[in-house]
Amino acid sequence: MDLREMLREGCKQLDIEVREEQIDQLLIYKDLLLEWNEKMNLTAIKDEKEVIIKHYLDSITCLKVKELKNEGKLIDVGTGAGFPGIPLKVFLPKIELNLLDALNKRLTFLKEVCSQLQLDNVQFTHGRAEDFGQNKNHREQYEFVVARAVASLNVLAEYCLPFVKVNGYFICQKGPLLTDELKMADKAIKVLGGEVVEQMDIQLPFSEINHRIVVIKKIKQTPTKYPRKAGTPAKNPIL
Ligand code: SAM
Repeated sequence: MDLREMLREGCKQLDIEVREEQIDQLLIYKDLLLEWNEKMNLTAIKDEKEVIIKHYLDSITCLKVKELKNEGKLIDVGTGAGFPGIPLKVFLPKIELNLLDALNKRLTFLKEVCSQLQLDNVQFTHGRAEDFGQNKNHREQYEFVVARAVASLNVLAEYCLPFVKVNGYFICQKGPLLTDELKMADKAIKVLGGEVVEQMDIQLPFSEINHRIVVIKKIKQTPTKYPRKAGTPAKNPIL
Protein backbone atom coordinates (compact mmCIF):
# COMPACT_ATOMS: atom_id res chain seq x y z
CA MET A 1 0.00 0.00 0.00
CA ASP A 2 1.44 3.44 -0.85
CA LEU A 3 1.47 6.33 1.60
CA ARG A 4 -1.54 8.09 0.07
CA GLU A 5 -3.59 4.92 0.32
CA MET A 6 -2.41 4.42 3.93
CA LEU A 7 -3.69 7.87 4.86
CA ARG A 8 -7.00 7.25 3.06
CA GLU A 9 -7.48 3.83 4.62
CA GLY A 10 -6.24 4.96 8.07
CA CYS A 11 -8.77 7.80 8.13
CA LYS A 12 -11.47 5.37 7.07
CA GLN A 13 -10.59 3.02 9.92
CA LEU A 14 -10.73 5.94 12.33
CA ASP A 15 -14.01 7.06 10.77
CA ILE A 16 -12.57 10.47 9.89
CA GLU A 17 -13.51 12.11 6.59
CA VAL A 18 -10.54 13.14 4.48
CA ARG A 19 -10.20 14.94 1.14
CA GLU A 20 -7.41 14.43 -1.39
CA GLU A 21 -6.13 18.02 -0.82
CA GLN A 22 -5.67 17.22 2.86
CA ILE A 23 -3.70 14.10 1.97
CA ASP A 24 -1.57 16.25 -0.38
CA GLN A 25 -0.85 18.61 2.53
CA LEU A 26 0.12 15.78 4.88
CA LEU A 27 2.44 14.27 2.26
CA ILE A 28 4.21 17.61 1.65
CA TYR A 29 4.60 17.93 5.43
CA LYS A 30 6.05 14.40 5.61
CA ASP A 31 8.64 15.24 2.91
CA LEU A 32 9.67 18.41 4.73
CA LEU A 33 9.86 16.58 8.06
CA LEU A 34 12.18 13.89 6.74
CA GLU A 35 14.28 16.39 4.75
CA TRP A 36 14.78 18.79 7.69
CA ASN A 37 15.32 15.87 10.05
CA GLU A 38 18.65 15.25 8.31
CA LYS A 39 19.83 18.66 9.52
CA MET A 40 18.09 18.98 12.89
CA ASN A 41 16.61 16.67 15.46
CA LEU A 42 12.87 16.63 14.77
CA THR A 43 11.81 13.00 15.06
CA ALA A 44 13.37 9.65 15.92
CA ILE A 45 11.01 7.98 13.42
CA LYS A 46 12.64 7.77 10.02
CA ASP A 47 10.57 5.19 8.17
CA GLU A 48 7.92 6.86 5.98
CA LYS A 49 5.13 4.44 6.83
CA GLU A 50 5.84 4.76 10.53
CA VAL A 51 5.78 8.53 10.19
CA ILE A 52 2.32 8.27 8.63
CA ILE A 53 1.02 6.01 11.40
CA LYS A 54 2.75 7.33 14.50
CA HIS A 55 2.71 11.04 13.69
CA TYR A 56 -0.11 11.82 11.26
CA LEU A 57 -2.77 9.22 12.03
CA ASP A 58 -1.97 9.43 15.74
CA SER A 59 -2.30 13.24 15.74
CA ILE A 60 -5.68 13.22 14.04
CA THR A 61 -7.16 10.76 16.54
CA CYS A 62 -7.88 13.94 18.56
CA LEU A 63 -10.65 14.60 16.00
CA LYS A 64 -12.56 11.75 17.65
CA VAL A 65 -13.16 14.08 20.60
CA LYS A 66 -16.63 15.44 19.92
CA GLU A 67 -15.99 18.62 21.92
CA LEU A 68 -13.26 19.68 19.46
CA LYS A 69 -14.82 22.04 16.91
CA ASN A 70 -13.67 23.76 13.72
CA GLU A 71 -13.69 27.20 15.40
CA GLY A 72 -12.03 29.07 18.23
CA LYS A 73 -8.45 29.14 19.46
CA LEU A 74 -6.27 26.09 19.97
CA ILE A 75 -2.75 25.96 21.42
CA ASP A 76 -0.45 22.95 21.03
CA VAL A 77 1.86 22.96 24.06
CA GLY A 78 5.31 21.43 23.38
CA THR A 79 4.45 20.95 19.72
CA GLY A 80 7.97 19.81 18.69
CA ALA A 81 7.78 19.03 14.97
CA GLY A 82 4.09 20.11 14.93
CA PHE A 83 2.22 17.21 16.51
CA PRO A 84 -0.67 17.09 16.95
CA GLY A 85 -1.24 20.80 16.11
CA ILE A 86 -0.49 20.96 12.37
CA PRO A 87 -2.38 17.80 11.30
CA LEU A 88 -5.34 19.10 13.34
CA LYS A 89 -5.19 22.46 11.54
CA VAL A 90 -5.24 20.63 8.18
CA PHE A 91 -8.55 19.02 9.20
CA LEU A 92 -9.93 22.03 11.11
CA PRO A 93 -8.89 24.98 8.90
CA LYS A 94 -11.02 27.54 10.78
CA ILE A 95 -9.28 27.16 14.11
CA GLU A 96 -6.75 29.80 15.18
CA LEU A 97 -3.68 27.72 15.93
CA ASN A 98 -0.82 28.58 18.26
CA LEU A 99 2.23 26.32 18.20
CA LEU A 100 4.28 26.68 21.39
CA ASP A 101 7.68 25.18 22.04
CA ALA A 102 10.72 25.92 24.15
CA LEU A 103 13.05 25.17 21.21
CA ASN A 104 13.23 27.98 18.66
CA LYS A 105 14.81 25.97 15.85
CA ARG A 106 11.75 23.72 15.76
CA LEU A 107 9.62 26.82 15.24
CA THR A 108 11.75 27.75 12.21
CA PHE A 109 10.80 24.38 10.74
CA LEU A 110 7.11 24.85 11.62
CA LYS A 111 7.01 28.26 9.91
CA GLU A 112 8.29 26.67 6.71
CA VAL A 113 5.71 23.86 6.96
CA CYS A 114 2.81 26.27 7.49
CA SER A 115 3.96 28.43 4.61
CA GLN A 116 4.27 25.48 2.21
CA LEU A 117 0.92 24.01 3.29
CA GLN A 118 -0.64 27.49 2.95
CA LEU A 119 -2.09 27.35 6.44
CA ASP A 120 -3.28 30.72 7.69
CA ASN A 121 -4.12 31.97 11.16
CA VAL A 122 -1.17 30.21 12.76
CA GLN A 123 0.92 31.80 15.51
CA PHE A 124 4.34 30.55 16.60
CA THR A 125 5.31 31.01 20.23
CA HIS A 126 8.82 30.42 21.45
CA GLY A 127 9.17 29.82 25.18
CA ARG A 128 8.15 27.80 28.18
CA ALA A 129 4.55 26.93 28.87
CA GLU A 130 5.00 28.05 32.49
CA ASP A 131 5.90 31.60 31.36
CA PHE A 132 3.16 31.99 28.75
CA GLY A 133 0.56 30.56 31.14
CA GLN A 134 1.08 33.71 33.24
CA ASN A 135 0.94 36.05 30.23
CA LYS A 136 -2.43 37.83 29.96
CA ASN A 137 -2.48 37.49 26.17
CA HIS A 138 -2.49 33.72 26.55
CA ARG A 139 -3.82 32.89 30.01
CA GLU A 140 -7.38 31.51 29.81
CA GLN A 141 -7.62 32.59 26.16
CA TYR A 142 -8.03 29.22 24.41
CA GLU A 143 -11.09 27.07 23.78
CA PHE A 144 -8.79 24.07 23.23
CA VAL A 145 -5.36 23.02 24.43
CA VAL A 146 -3.67 19.90 23.08
CA ALA A 147 -0.43 18.17 24.04
CA ARG A 148 1.31 14.94 23.14
CA ALA A 149 4.45 13.41 24.66
CA VAL A 150 5.48 16.44 26.72
CA ALA A 151 5.33 15.45 30.41
CA SER A 152 3.46 13.26 32.88
CA LEU A 153 -0.13 14.33 33.37
CA ASN A 154 0.29 16.02 36.76
CA VAL A 155 3.04 18.24 35.33
CA LEU A 156 1.28 18.68 32.00
CA ALA A 157 -1.92 19.82 33.71
CA GLU A 158 0.03 22.73 35.23
CA TYR A 159 1.51 23.58 31.82
CA CYS A 160 -1.79 23.36 29.96
CA LEU A 161 -4.84 24.14 32.12
CA PRO A 162 -3.87 27.81 32.71
CA PHE A 163 -4.28 28.41 28.94
CA VAL A 164 -7.83 27.00 28.81
CA LYS A 165 -10.85 29.33 29.00
CA VAL A 166 -13.49 28.35 31.54
CA ASN A 167 -15.76 25.84 29.75
CA GLY A 168 -12.95 25.03 27.28
CA TYR A 169 -11.07 21.73 27.02
CA PHE A 170 -7.61 20.31 27.48
CA ILE A 171 -7.22 17.27 25.18
CA CYS A 172 -4.26 15.14 26.10
CA GLN A 173 -2.84 12.19 24.13
CA LYS A 174 -1.38 9.46 26.27
CA GLY A 175 -0.25 5.85 26.15
CA PRO A 176 -2.08 2.87 27.69
CA LEU A 177 -0.63 3.60 31.17
CA LEU A 178 -2.94 6.56 31.54
CA THR A 179 -4.90 5.05 34.44
CA ASP A 180 -1.92 5.32 36.82
CA GLU A 181 -1.03 8.77 35.54
CA LEU A 182 -4.59 9.92 36.02
CA LYS A 183 -4.61 8.80 39.65
CA MET A 184 -1.38 10.70 40.22
CA ALA A 185 -2.80 13.78 38.50
CA ASP A 186 -6.15 13.78 40.26
CA LYS A 187 -5.26 16.53 42.70
CA ALA A 188 -3.42 18.70 40.14
CA ILE A 189 -6.40 18.63 37.75
CA LYS A 190 -8.79 19.68 40.55
CA VAL A 191 -6.53 22.38 41.99
CA LEU A 192 -5.99 23.87 38.51
CA GLY A 193 -9.74 24.08 37.82
CA GLY A 194 -10.24 21.02 35.63
CA GLU A 195 -12.48 17.97 35.58
CA VAL A 196 -11.98 14.80 33.54
CA VAL A 197 -15.04 14.44 31.32
CA GLU A 198 -13.99 11.68 28.95
CA GLN A 199 -11.38 9.03 28.29
CA MET A 200 -11.12 7.32 24.93
CA ASP A 201 -9.22 4.22 23.88
CA ILE A 202 -7.82 4.47 20.39
CA GLN A 203 -6.46 1.61 18.32
CA LEU A 204 -3.99 3.11 15.91
CA PRO A 205 -4.54 1.75 12.35
CA PHE A 206 -1.88 -0.58 10.89
CA SER A 207 -0.36 -1.20 14.32
CA GLU A 208 -0.82 -2.91 17.67
CA ILE A 209 -0.56 0.42 19.41
CA ASN A 210 -3.31 1.45 21.82
CA HIS A 211 -3.53 5.05 22.84
CA ARG A 212 -5.71 6.94 25.20
CA ILE A 213 -7.05 10.41 24.98
CA VAL A 214 -8.16 12.18 28.10
CA VAL A 215 -10.48 15.16 27.86
CA ILE A 216 -10.38 17.63 30.74
CA LYS A 217 -12.94 20.41 30.93
CA LYS A 218 -12.05 23.66 32.64
CA ILE A 219 -14.81 24.19 35.16
CA LYS A 220 -13.32 27.10 37.10
CA GLN A 221 -10.48 29.59 36.83
CA THR A 222 -6.94 28.47 37.64
CA PRO A 223 -5.63 30.06 40.88
CA THR A 224 -3.19 32.87 39.97
CA LYS A 225 -0.21 31.17 41.60
CA TYR A 226 -0.25 28.54 38.80
CA PRO A 227 1.68 27.85 36.66
CA ARG A 228 4.63 28.27 39.01
CA LYS A 229 7.94 29.48 37.66
CA ALA A 230 9.63 27.60 34.80
CA GLY A 231 11.04 24.28 35.95
CA THR A 232 9.07 24.10 39.22
CA PRO A 233 6.10 22.00 37.96
CA ALA A 234 8.49 19.26 36.76
CA LYS A 235 10.74 19.43 39.83
CA ASN A 236 7.94 19.63 42.35
CA PRO A 237 4.67 18.42 40.77
CA ILE A 238 1.34 19.03 42.50
CA LEU A 239 0.63 15.74 44.29
N1 SAM B 1 4.29 17.10 20.81
C1 SAM B 1 5.36 16.65 19.91
C2 SAM B 1 5.12 15.22 19.48
O1 SAM B 1 4.23 14.57 20.04
O2 SAM B 1 5.82 14.73 18.58
C3 SAM B 1 6.75 16.82 20.54
C4 SAM B 1 7.06 15.94 21.68
S1 SAM B 1 8.70 16.21 22.28
C5 SAM B 1 9.03 14.70 23.09
C6 SAM B 1 8.43 17.35 23.64
C7 SAM B 1 8.46 18.81 23.19
O3 SAM B 1 7.97 19.60 24.25
C8 SAM B 1 9.87 19.30 22.85
O4 SAM B 1 9.86 19.92 21.58
C9 SAM B 1 10.19 20.29 23.97
O5 SAM B 1 11.00 21.39 23.53
C10 SAM B 1 8.80 20.75 24.40
N2 SAM B 1 8.68 21.15 25.81
C11 SAM B 1 8.96 20.40 26.91
N3 SAM B 1 8.69 21.09 28.04
C12 SAM B 1 8.22 22.31 27.64
C13 SAM B 1 7.79 23.48 28.35
N4 SAM B 1 7.77 23.52 29.69
N5 SAM B 1 7.37 24.53 27.63
C14 SAM B 1 7.38 24.50 26.27
N6 SAM B 1 7.79 23.43 25.55
C15 SAM B 1 8.21 22.35 26.22
